[in-house]
Amino acid sequence: MNLKDDWRLVEEAVKTHNKFVLTTHINPDGDGIGSELALYYYLKKMGKDACIINTSPTPAIYEFLDPDHTRISVFSDTDVDHINAAEVIFVLDISTMERLGRMSTIVKESKSLKICIDHHFTNHGLSDINVIHETACATAELIYDYLRKTEKGILEYPIAEALYVGMLTDTGSFRFSNSTPRSHIIAAELLECGIKPRDIFVKVYEMNPWEKVQLFGNVLTRLRLDETKKIVYTIIPQTLMKSSGAKQEDIEGFVEYLNTINGVEMALLFLELPGGKIKTSLRSKGYQDINQVAEQFKGGGHQHAAGILFSDTTMEDAVTKVVSACKKLL
Ligand code: 5GP
Ligand code: MN
Repeated sequence: MNLKDDWRLVEEAVKTHNKFVLTTHINPDGDGIGSELALYYYLKKMGKDACIINTSPTPAIYEFLDPDHTRISVFSDTDVDHINAAEVIFVLDISTMERLGRMSTIVKESKSLKICIDHHFTNHGLSDINVIHETACATAELIYDYLRKTEKGILEYPIAEALYVGMLTDTGSFRFSNSTPRSHIIAAELLECGIKPRDIFVKVYEMNPWEKVQLFGNVLTRLRLDETKKIVYTIIPQTLMKSSGAKQEDIEGFVEYLNTINGVEMALLFLELPGGKIKTSLRSKGYQDINQVAEQFKGGGHQHAAGILFSDTTMEDAVTKVVSACKKLL
C-alpha cells in the first residue's frame, strides 16, 4: 500500500519546529544510515537543532559517512531526556516501532510529533505523519524526493553521498527488482553532484575484514539443502561467531550469495545472537513473496528480502518452522 501523507505536512513540521531527533532500525543498513544523514545535513543547513540517535552502532562499512563519529550517536540512558525534549522525531526505514529495539518504548511514549518515512509495503502507518511509498527502491529515494522539493540546485556532496549509499545498498548495487528507471535517473543525478561509483563501491563492498571472509568460508562448508534442492539454509551458532572473531555486521551479504546457487529459489540464514535470540534472514530469487513467511513469525520486509527475530525459540525449532513455511511457497 502507498500511504501518502502529504510531503507538505513534513515541510510544515520542519518549518515550525526546531529540535529534531532522527533514528532508524536496529542493526542499521546503508539505507537507514544514508537516509538519516541526508536529512540531518539538510536540517542543519536549515539552522535546526538536529541529532541522530540509533539503537545499534554504525557498521564499520558505513563509518566513512561519519568518520569522526560526530553525526551519529548510539543510544544510551542519557539520551532519554534528549528524545523527550525533541519536538519532532523522524523514524526512517522502519515498518514497526519494535524495530527500534531498546529505543522503541521511549520513542513511542515521547510527546513529540513523529514522522515516519519508509518504503516497506507492510508499513501501515505508525506515526503522526507517514510518508510511505512501497514503489521507492529505498527510503533514501523518498528523502531525495523531499529534498528536491526544497533544494533546487545541485545537492551538496555529503547529502548526495548519503543518498547514493542508501539507494546502492538497498537495490543490491542496482540489481534487485526494486531498481527502477527512476532509481537510475536519480543515481545519474547524484553522479552529477560528484559521486564516483567506484570510490563508493570500494568503501562499501571492498573493505571486507579478514575475519568475515574466514567465517564465510566456514559457512560455505556447512550449507544445507532441503529435499527439493530449492531452499538453501545455514546456521551460524554463537560459538562460531566467537571463534571466528567476526562481528554481527559481517554477516551482511552472505545470504545473498547463497541465493546465487543455480536451482535455488530461496536462501535462509539463521544467526544465533549473544542472548540466544535468533536473527533470520530470508531471500527469494523468483516470484515467491518471502515476506509472507516472515510475517507468519512476526517479522517483515520486502518481497525478495525479509527478516524475523525469534526471541523464545530453539534454533532447531526456528529452522524447522521457517523451512517448512518456505516449502509451502514453492
Ligand atoms: P536482513 O535480513 O538484511 O536483516 O533484512 C532484510 C529486510 O527484512 C530488511 O530490509 C527489513 O526490511 C526486514 N527485516 C529484517 N529483520 C526484520 C524483523 O525482525 N522485523 C521486521 N518487521 N522486518 C525485518
Ligand atoms: Mn530500506
